[in-house]
Amino acid sequence: MSWYNWIVLSFSLLCLVRALDASAGDADPIYKACVEQCEKTGCVGTKCFQHCKFSSDGKPIDGPWYLQEPLYMQWKQWDCRSDCRYHCMVAREEERQKLGDKPVKYHGKWAFRRAYGIQEPVSVALSALNLAIQFHGWVSFFILIYYKLPLRPNKKTYYEYTGLWHIYGILSMNSWFWSAVFHSRDVELTEKLDYSSAVALLGFTLILAILRAFNVRDEAARVMVAAPLIAFITTHIMYLNFYNLDYGLNMKVCGAMGVAQLLIWAVWAGVTRHPSQWKLWVVVVGGGLAMLLELYDFPPYRGFVDAHALWHASTIPLTYLWWSFVRDDAEFRTSSLLKKTK
Ligand SMILES: [Zn+2]
Repeated sequence: MSWYNWIVLSFSLLCLVRALDASAGDADPIYKACVEQCEKTGCVGTKCFQHCKFSSDGKPIDGPWYLQEPLYMQWKQWDCRSDCRYHCMVAREEERQKLGDKPVKYHGKWAFRRAYGIQEPVSVALSALNLAIQFHGWVSFFILIYYKLPLRPNKKTYYEYTGLWHIYGILSMNSWFWSAVFHSRDVELTEKLDYSSAVALLGFTLILAILRAFNVRDEAARVMVAAPLIAFITTHIMYLNFYNLDYGLNMKVCGAMGVAQLLIWAVWAGVTRHPSQWKLWVVVVGGGLAMLLELYDFPPYRGFVDAHALWHASTIPLTYLWWSFVRDDAEFRTSSLLKKTK
């Protein structure tokens, strides 16, 4: 039982770490002065940015009329700020390294190196790979259930959780898509989309865990379980998007939902006589260990690979095994239902 405590502990620590460690680097007066200077002059050292060319009244100096629209101006100022922050951060981290100081975070993130304008290339690539594995898992489930296993006379599957796994597949692919977008360009909109899809996925997998582990097959009972959870998840997403993007609160909510479903699967894996029980165990233990990676938040190796990227890497084999469990479950349920009808 001790690893349960570990997960709970790591989640509560995770909240603390996130809440305290908002920004050590961006409070640094040298960094602040650099960004301020850059937003005025458009240059960091010898590097200058085209988007930072504003006249004194905030209008761009050159360019045709359509480039002077307010919306475009906002984009330009946005780009200017993000380029200034990035190059000041790189310059400051190089200085710090020469002085023998440890790396620090800027605006809640480590100093990542960009590649082709992508902020965290490794996390983007791993998110894309996760998306591909999810797609592969979902398609193989689809083929198994509709083409390999027998169907009911009304053309529906014997397996009672088909629809739920389809929703799971779609929500997780959506979530990995926005994760890839967010890691390539971190602005408020992409951040909100990434967080919202992750919360939606986590909330739905909790519902799925309850329905599958407790064998809830009756439509009315399913609605009774799902409705309050859907209401809660929707409220939480609305709160994050339209009221306050509170990282601490979101961590607690996600942590609670994550631990709850791991516990449900773990207990179920302990009592069930499911033939693919071991796959459940591996995913539950692996999932718990993977969460520890999020806790052990080390700075990116060579500016590229950090704990978060490794966490995205660890979900790839777990996802593969997870879909394999889902396929086994579909086969197992179908064959036991067929035995009953005979
Ligand atoms: Zn991520």
